[in-house]
Formats: sequence, C-alpha cells, structure tokens
Amino acid sequence: MSATQLYFDHCASTPPHPDVIRTVAEVMGQVYANPSSIHGAGGQAEQLIRRSREVVARALEVEPEDILLTSGATESNNIAIFGIAKAYQAAGKPIHMIVSEVEHASVYKCVQQLEQEGIEVTYLPVDENGRVRPDEVEAAIRPHTVLVSIMHVNNEMGAIQPIGEIGDMLRRYPKVTFHVDGVQGLGKVPVRLAEWGIDLYSLSGHKIQGPRGAGVLVKRKQVALKPLMYGGSQEGELRPGTENVPCIVGLAKAVRLAVEGQSERYDKLVRLRQFVLEHLSQMKPLVVNSPAVPYGAPHIINVSYPGMKSEVVVHALEQRGIIVSTQSACSSKLHKPSRVLLAMTHDSQVAASGIRISLDANCSEDELKRLVQSFKQMTEQLQSLVQR
Ligand code: PMP
Repeated sequence: MSATQLYFDHCASTPPHPDVIRTVAEVMGQVYANPSSIHGAGGQAEQLIRRSREVVARALEVEPEDILLTSGATESNNIAIFGIAKAYQAAGKPIHMIVSEVEHASVYKCVQQLEQEGIEVTYLPVDENGRVRPDEVEAAIRPHTVLVSIMHVNNEMGAIQPIGEIGDMLRRYPKVTFHVDGVQGLGKVPVRLAEWGIDLYSLSGHKIQGPRGAGVLVKRKQVALKPLMYGGSQEGELRPGTENVPCIVGLAKAVRLAVEGQSERYDKLVRLRQFVLEHLSQMKPLVVNSPAVPYGAPHIINVSYPGMKSEVVVHALEQRGIIVSTQSACSSKLHKPSRVLLAMTHDSQVAASGIRISLDANCSEDELKRLVQSFKQMTEQLQSLVQR
C-alpha cells in the first residue's frame, strides 16, 4: 500500500497491532525450540503456548482445554464441520446439517462437499436484513440433524445473526451441535459463548489485528470430532503439527485486545458508519445493502451501483487512492455476482455490483471525508456516462 492510499478493507485483513508485531518478532527470535521437545527450551515454548491458551480462554470466557489452536478460520471451520461429519459417519448414522445461504465459503463449500458425499444439507434463506429466522432454523431440524452452523456477522453485508436466540432454541435439541463462524464479530459486537450455548466457535487472528496464519476453534468438551489430519499429538491430535509459537502468542494478545476494547470500538464504529452512510445514501443510483444498526455490524458498509460491475468501481476508487473490495476476499477473484447479496436482495444487478467498505475504529474524520468525496466524484462520473 502506498502512503497516499486509504485502506477500507479491514474485513479482508487488518494491519497488525504494533504490540502484536513486537511480540511475534521477539518470540520468533528467542523461542525457536520445538514445544514438544523434552528439554528446557522446548518446555519454555510449551509454556508460552499454555499461557496463550489461557489468555484466549479467559477473553472468551471458556476453559483453556476448549481452545484448539489452528492456522486460521478456514481451518477451524473445516475441522468443525468435517470433524462432526466424520464422527457420525464412523458410527454409520444418517446425517443432516443446517447452514444459512450467506455463510462464508469456508463453511459453505464444506457442506457442499459433504452433500456430494451423501450428507443432507438445508440452506436457510435470509430476510431483507440478511438474517436467518430462529423459527426457520427450528423448523428445519430433523431427527438426524447433527449440526447447525450459522455465522455471527456476515463478512460481506454485515448482518448480525440472532445467535443468542438460535442457541436458546437449540437447548431443546441437545443432540444438535451449534457451530458459529465468529470471524467478523469478535471485537466488533458482543459475543457470549456460554450464554448462547455455542459448542464450536471459529476465529481468525488477522481479522483482529493479530498475525496471519493463526486462529482458534473453540470446542466445548461435550463435542466429539474426528481429526482431518494425522501426525503428532499436538492439540489433542485434532490439529497435529509443530505449533507456530510466535503467532500463537501474538494471536492471544490480539484476542485479548479485541475483547477488551469491543464496547468502545463499537460506539466509535457506529458513529463512523453513520457519517459515511448519511453521505452515500444521497448518491443515486447507489443503493445501500447493509442492514441498519442494530441488525448490521458497525464496521461494514455494503453498497451497489446496479448495472455496473463491482470490479470496475473498485478499480476506479483505487485510482483515487481508496481501497475497498467487492465481495469477500476469498471469493472476489471469481468475478461472479455475490451469492450473499443475491440471497439477501434477490436482485442480480445489485448482487453483481456490490462494494464493501470495511472500517477500522481509528479511521479519522478526514479519511472518511476523502472516502465520501471519492464516491461522490465517481458517482457523478458514472451518471454522466449513463446520460451520454
Ligand atoms: N469466515 C469469515 C466470515 C471470514 O470473513 C473469513 C475471512 N475472509 C474466514 C472465515 C476465513 O478466515 P481465514 O482467512 O483465517 O482462513
């Protein structure tokens, strides 16, 4: 990124926190022994992992034994979903899973793959605010439903799903495991794992100013998963392989900072989002897709220019020094209309022209003014093209 560019793609990845960079560098330089080695240096590395696990557990109000360290949320989601499927497949039982139509690819493609292997999957629609309805989740439950997987905050249009209500309802179905992809919610909106009855919860370091290549799957004791990989005995044999100690320590710091600052960050982001929306909502033909607070997350603004391709708008903004994105970073190179916006709006023109602006709580007023100004100039330019 050049110094003159302004970055509004925090949902795709965040700049690491300076304390995280310092910690990762220090640990990388000093603690390089293998945590599984029986000598003192190995023990020191192991102790750092143990402490990091405790920090993450405390921040999320779960037990340290519930924390499974992974390489990121894609891996956490895969371990959760395939892990459950394999556990039931091993028992030779029929399997049904429920997900929403707006899940991230790292959940959606897992269940699509399982469907090809004969597992039944229900894809729940979302309402005009991009949210699933808890009563529809309940209506979809079958005698052989083993998993409900619903994300907390949608990474494209920002809908906050009614996780607490779904979790409450699922208490009446103790055989159903509840998985939540919490990547975009952590540090932005409140999360209550125990209160909401969440059994499995995925998070990712690089979305919360932590290091890339580090994530967590929270797995409550009652959940039995089969491993997807085989090797050493690390992470209860569910995630074998030598641990990435520097990034684990950096991740723990990032999780703690994310949770500690959540409420203040939320208030700041709501104000910033409001400022941007007040201006963008005046700029016809631009339409705002993200649901309003309290149904929409405070850091995500999704808009469309129906009739225009998202990539064209994103590149035009980049020429003005404004970095935004089309759909999720993981799907943006597909150049297809957004599956998520289509599920929410049922409008293919809107779905083909979605643009995501994702904010950081430290964005300054001047930066937001430049963002708004660039959108204004571009809208005027697009309008003059249409009128010609
Ligand atoms: N889930 C959601 C909601 C996401 O936004 C992302 C990142 N785009 C992921 C999962 C995957 O996370 P990671 O990059 O850590 O694999």
